[in-house]
Amino acid sequence: MEAGEFELIDKIRRQAGQGAELQLGIGDDCSAINVPPGHSLLTSTDLLLEGVHFRLDWTDLVSLGNKTVAVNVSDIAAMGARPLCLYLGLGLPLSFSDRQVEQFLAGFFASLEDYDIFLAGGDTCRSNGPLMLAVTVQGLCPEGQLVTRAGAVVGDDLWVSGTLGDSALALGCLLEGSPLPAPLADRHFRPIARVKLGQRLAAEHLATAMLDLSDGLSGDLRHLLLSSGVGARVVLSQLPLSEEFRQALSGDRTLIDLALSGGEDYELLFTARTGSRARIEALATELPISLQRIGEITSGSELCLLDAAGQSYQPRRQAFDHFDRSRSHQP
Ligand code: ADP
Ligand code: MG
Repeated sequence: MEAGEFELIDKIRRQAGQGAELQLGIGDDCSAINVPPGHSLLTSTDLLLEGVHFRLDWTDLVSLGNKTVAVNVSDIAAMGARPLCLYLGLGLPLSFSDRQVEQFLAGFFASLEDYDIFLAGGDTCRSNGPLMLAVTVQGLCPEGQLVTRAGAVVGDDLWVSGTLGDSALALGCLLEGSPLPAPLADRHFRPIARVKLGQRLAAEHLATAMLDLSDGLSGDLRHLLLSSGVGARVVLSQLPLSEEFRQALSGDRTLIDLALSGGEDYELLFTARTGSRARIEALATELPISLQRIGEITSGSELCLLDAAGQSYQPRRQAFDHFDRSRSHQP
């Protein structure tokens, strides 16, 4: 990189954007946010590491900038809250060029605008190893609207937005070197956080529990079940699948495990009273977004997966676990 640290921070500061709640932004030791009365400030952090979460020979840097924003905003969406701002920790490899930094920032700031949020601070340093992106996101939630993982009760419906498994299927194509259909590439490289959906489900008190799917349906659902102290029954034939996914599935039935346990869907998984079905379907039409009922909450603590014949199904792949050495983007 030619540009020095302060030049870079200045460039970032000029694009950081604004928000009514921002009292003090980039340029001091801390930022200061005014939390509107009757609101909670939500905070969440995600690390994105080259070689673990992404590979620079697969992703373009503009998309990586987009994704860095989306995966963080998704956590705010999952609480039913409004995203407010980000903090960007940048560890830049020495080999990184000004042009590469610019491309990443172009994608990053374009997504900040898309989600109507601002950049409130961060840190910049050199990395002697891979590219490191550490992003913290903050959001605001009106009192009484926070949707946690702990609110599911026996008899609730289990819903999921969008389609499942596309991102994991894309990763599979990349690892195999097989052709990657554009819609799958989009799902993997440029996920979209379901912000409007999350806020509406919370504001209208439709979701009883919610989380975003980052590590795969079965694993993430287990988190929700554990938090709520309940079990669930999921019907495989109900899982929402894209055209591209169905096509791949018709050639290899075992790919259904990618919809169950593949990661990075960034869809919202939520529970709701059976009496809310008509309102949730109306919301799906209004937004518009696909919302699918995939099962129900049961007593006990088991996650029971049912195949087309009504038999219990055991996936061969488990949800993504970063400490499982056999699974990483590293070749
Ligand atoms: P300090 O030494 O006090 O940590 P820095 O020189 O690291 O201060 O940062 C100066 C200002 O620039 C701070 O307000 C910080 O939040 C901001 N900043 C530094 N790096 C970034 C970045 N990558 N993105 C956004 N803001 C940044
Ligand atoms: Mg600093």
